[in-house]
This record gives sequence, C-alpha cells and structure tokens, in this order.
Amino acid sequence: MEQGTTTRVGLMGWPVRHSLSAVMHQAAFDALGLDWAYLLLPVAPERLGDGTRGLRGLGFVGANVTVPHKEAVMRHLDEVTMEARAIGAVNTIVVREGRMVGTNTDALGFLRGLREAGVEPRGARAVVLGAGGAARAVLYALLAAGAQVTLVNRTSARAAALARRFEGLFQAKIRLLGPGSAGGLTQALGQATLLVNTTPVGMTPHVDRSPLPAGVRLGSHLAVNDLVYNPRRTRLLDAARVAGATPIDGLGMLLHQGAAAFSLWTGRPAPLDIMRAALDAASRER
Ligand code: NAP
Repeated sequence: MEQGTTTRVGLMGWPVRHSLSAVMHQAAFDALGLDWAYLLLPVAPERLGDGTRGLRGLGFVGANVTVPHKEAVMRHLDEVTMEARAIGAVNTIVVREGRMVGTNTDALGFLRGLREAGVEPRGARAVVLGAGGAARAVLYALLAAGAQVTLVNRTSARAAALARRFEGLFQAKIRLLGPGSAGGLTQALGQATLLVNTTPVGMTPHVDRSPLPAGVRLGSHLAVNDLVYNPRRTRLLDAARVAGATPIDGLGMLLHQGAAAFSLWTGRPAPLDIMRAALDAASRER
C-alpha cells in the first residue's frame, strides 16, 4: 500500500492498458530499491490540459506520453526541448523545480536499439515504411546520423509533407516512393542496408499481415527493424529470416527509449538487464 511518500511517474494516453512500459519501469524501480510507482494515466483528449497540469499538482516527477497525445501535449508544457520540437512529438515529461519539460527519447531509443543489434546507420541507405508519429522519430534519428532515406507511405501526401519538414531541418534529400510501387521498392531495398517498418501493420490482432506489398523481395544484405512489438515476432521479421536478412524486433527501441526516460527522471543509469528481462517476460505472456 502506498504510504504517501512514493515518488510517482506515469503513462498518459487514451486508452492506456496492459502497458509494457509500466512493467519495465516498475521492475527497474523495484530492483534498485526505489520507492517509486509507475501509474497508468488514461487521459481523454479533451482533458489533456487538465491531465497534464494535474501531474504537477499531484507531485509527479515525470511521465511518458503515448498515442494520441504526443503532439498535442506540447502546448501544455512550460518548455519543449529542441529535439522534441524538431521531431514534433513529446514522449517524456520531466517535472523539474515545478517546471514541466517535454522531451523525446524515441529517436535515441531507436538508434540505440539499432546499434545494439550491430547496425550502424551513419552513411547507410534506409527505407522507411510509414509516415506517422513513430516515423518522425525514426527519420530524425536516421537523418541526424547521416543516413540516406527513402520514405514509403500509404498516403503519399503525408509522406511528402513529412519529407519537406525533415529536408528543411537537415538539408537532406528524402526520396519518396508510392505505396503501390512493388518494383520501385524492390529496387530501393536492393540498394539499401536497412528497412524500418513504422506502420502498425502486422500488429495484434492482424498478425498475418505484412507491411510489404506482394512481390517485394528482401535480400540477405538487409537489416529489417520492425517497430511493432506486439507480437514480437511479426510476419515481416519472419520474411526477413527466410531471406537470410537480419531481423530486429521492436523491443529494442522500446527498451532504450524507456531507459533514457528512466535516467532523466531518476538521475541514475537505467538497469538495462532488469528492464530487458521484464520486457521479455511480459511480451512472452501476451
Ligand atoms: P501512426 O501515427 O498512426 O502512424 C501510422 C502510419 O502507418 C501512418 O503512416 C499510416 O499511413 C500507416 N498505416 C497505418 N495502417 C496502415 C495500413 N493498413 N497499411 C499501410 N499503412 C498503414 O502510428 P505510430 O504512433 O507511428 O505507431 C506505428 C507503430 O509503431 C505501432 O505499431 C506502434 O506500436 C509502433 N511503435 C513502436 C515503438 C517502439 O518503441 N518499438 C515506438 C513507437 C511506435 P497513413 O498516413 O496512410 O494513414
């Protein structure tokens, strides 16, 4: 039972349930003997301002922010870091001396997940599927690392808008490919070393779906990072295995974005092994 002295952080989203972030962070707090609790904070979109201000009122030291609040939350904060502003999304809030600061650990989490899997994005050619919230962090990370990016999205106009935004930020050229272009995609993948799926295609319950159009082939030279982590083993990653490519699941990014948030809140290095084991166990139970 909480005694009123417990330090609180939480996850604001709508809806939020069965969160792997909660499992991972609570395991880390408990392992380090910290009297901290990670709470699920369902906040309806029309209550986001009240909910965000409530964090400070209730003495929270921070929070994670998830769908659909990552963009909208920015206007309710005292400060947003340059990186989060450039990405256009906040996934972590730190409350410091009464000020609420929004930051983004998704881009760093993605890069660390890749590097841990032995993939160096610096100077790489990458194909990114999707142009939503996760794609922004991935594009930011890849372009900041000097990768050349081809962007493919179901809605071409959304990909074009995202490309314009990041081309302006990084003085880089992003190649755009239409979703129906199986030949163009096969060709782009032939020249790339990295494929990143940032769409939810393949996620539970539609686990038999792949974000790759029929007829697109993967080569053994590719690393394939599927950001979907529910399930951990997706149809796309199975196709990567069959092709002899290197499959990288979505838990690496989840772990490392969480570890970065943990360090921002606690001022301590994150216990990566504990957090990884908690994620492994929780994702096996799903
Ligand atoms: P989002 O903002 O809704 O964007 C989804 C993107 O996927 C959009 O570009 C959308 O295309 C495309 N898409 C959706 N359904 C599609 C379909 N049936 N066929 C083709 N394209 C489709 O979502 P998000 O927040 O970026 O999240 C995307 C996925 O990434 C989720 O599965 C999420 O769990 C995962 N994720 C993982 C991590 C991690 O740490 N591993 C972190 C963040 C997100 P349109 O533009 O045409 O709508």
